[in-house]
Amino acid sequence: MARLIAKTLVVALAGLLLALDPGAGRGEAAPPAKEKRPAYNATPAEMAKYEATARKVFDDLLAHLTPEERAGLPADRAWPPEFEVIENAGTEQEPDYYNAFAWWQFDAGGNVLVKDGKRILAVKITRGYLDIIDGNEHALALILGHELGHHLLGHVGRPPQTKPAAKDAMDGHRREADADLFGARLMLRAGYSVRQAVAAKWRGMERVGHLYSPAGGVCTSHPATADRAARLTALLAAPAAPLWRSMAAFENGVTFLTVEDYAAAELCFERVAREFPACYEAWANLGYARLMRYCGTLSPAALRELEVGHLVGTGAYQTAGSLVRASNTKLWEQAKVDLERAVRLNPKAAPALASLGLLHLVHPTGKAAGIGDAERYLAAAVAALDAEAGVDGQTRLTLLVNLGAARIAAGRPAEGKRLLEQARELARKVYPTADYWPDEFASALAFNTAVAMTAEGEVAAAARLFEAYLQNTAPTNRWWAVAYARYADLCRELGKTVRPRDELAGRTQLRRRLTVTVAAGTVHLGQPVAEALGVLGAPTRVTAEKGASGIRRLRFERHGVELVADDDEVYAVVVIAESGPGVPVSEVGPDGRELGTLRVGMTRKQVREVLRGRPVVDRSLTTFREEFEYYPGLGVAVKYDGDGPGAAVVAVVVAQLGNRTGVMTN
Ligand SMILES: [Zn+2]
Repeated sequence: MARLIAKTLVVALAGLLLALDPGAGRGEAAPPAKEKRPAYNATPAEMAKYEATARKVFDDLLAHLTPEERAGLPADRAWPPEFEVIENAGTEQEPDYYNAFAWWQFDAGGNVLVKDGKRILAVKITRGYLDIIDGNEHALALILGHELGHHLLGHVGRPPQTKPAAKDAMDGHRREADADLFGARLMLRAGYSVRQAVAAKWRGMERVGHLYSPAGGVCTSHPATADRAARLTALLAAPAAPLWRSMAAFENGVTFLTVEDYAAAELCFERVAREFPACYEAWANLGYARLMRYCGTLSPAALRELEVGHLVGTGAYQTAGSLVRASNTKLWEQAKVDLERAVRLNPKAAPALASLGLLHLVHPTGKAAGIGDAERYLAAAVAALDAEAGVDGQTRLTLLVNLGAARIAAGRPAEGKRLLEQARELARKVYPTADYWPDEFASALAFNTAVAMTAEGEVAAAARLFEAYLQNTAPTNRWWAVAYARYADLCRELGKTVRPRDELAGRTQLRRRLTVTVAAGTVHLGQPVAEALGVLGAPTRVTAEKGASGIRRLRFERHGVELVADDDEVYAVVVIAESGPGVPVSEVGPDGRELGTLRVGMTRKQVREVLRGRPVVDRSLTTFREEFEYYPGLGVAVKYDGDGPGAAVVAVVVAQLGNRTGVMTN
């Protein structure tokens, strides 16, 4: 899920924003933490109906189990499981309002309940989950059938094991795929529609931003949503399989946007747009990816003269057009064509309209040439935003912040501030607590709010907010220097001491690597194996990993790389030869520095120079016999031919191996 992507800065900043919230000053009592669950769309009467439907579907599924399926139940367990609808599937500290799970039934003391000498099982689903799928019985059959599968396939209560991370992820994905298939067969037997279920579940998950792409999902326990849907539909020989495959490409593209790999995102959205030319979302995102690449070519020094605020763009930002000198005009033109096409396909596509607005703010021939169009598109985006039902909460938040920033840039701070306040209010509805706010959103909200406060003479509050922004935002962010200059001005105005830059600057984050590029093209984590073979050609050698069933290493001498994969997807890309590709290391943000390139043959000393001061941990990939030095923030592991600073790199691995030592599963 989206939270997989680095998420470290938001807490203090969001807390400060809440403290500064005008509503909080009017004596509203803060609700206790455990009541901060999302508001349901359903009325209490509807919710009661959803719960009754869930119970009916659960009983229905139990009645349609075959004797063979029932026989899978381990002998020490009572049947059937107890079914419950609950509020929160997580803990009080880390709530999880949208989930279902198969587990033991515990008593208050944490002991497994026993009946007639057999342990009692449970299947539970949260009210939030019922809410986002609107109590759809097909979706419920898929979800609950999956959980019954976990019980009858013996997945619950396996002894805890410590496994290499990639192996653990693969085993986890296989269990999930098995449970999906079990659930799908069961629900079909009981007369439900898999296709309706997948569609309803998809819509629901999308509503709360729980979709994560195959590339982002590689190191999580469950495979990505599109992946599971693709496998299901393929297994059931449904004609919709190519559709879901494209959806997977779309999700990959979104992940690449999140990690600022705009070139890779372009490839993904191009593929979707080619296969489904009427998909305006693909054109909008393609245009957006190109716009971001274009913005990356703008000079950061010019920002100081700009009065355009911090815009949310999954880590990339806009600047105004008067500065565009050495920029790539062609890319701007291409972005314009894509976005206009998206708008022709759907004249009310709010994200595309907003991107067009931003595009015109960075017009290659100057701000004056674009400001009229920018205002027009942004106004249209606001109108469309209110009309378009399909826009999810996160998109709406992004648009509100960007539109607010644009209004402030156009010299209308009061209007801008109103939009930012709307965004803050909406964020409280979309996320259970402020801890869940995306970093980029919280940063942009703070920056722009501080700018508006300055304009309205609230100098002390603005200075405090800029200070929090500086401490919680990476200094490589191109707005950081602008914020510092504004903060220093405000401090001088207030007669306060200006804290030095170094004291405020947090640590810079690295851009997570998910791809490796060889002469023939790019391969990425989570990619279907068949697609990666399309890039790399036939492997020179295929080796099955001993003791790690289903995992193979595919070697491509010509490219100097190996893939670690199972039958379905790529889990790691390993550079194995000096002639192989380099793996670049850079900081996040459009002004993030290139720190160097990791290659086979470098010494440990050279690698450490590139990654100076970054935390490194020991990790295994597919077997504990083989150890790597892993940089979690980067997502790259390195293997040497010995100890000491002079040892040479023999392998550079792009993989998501997690932050913890080993992975406990149960
Ligand atoms: Zn599961």
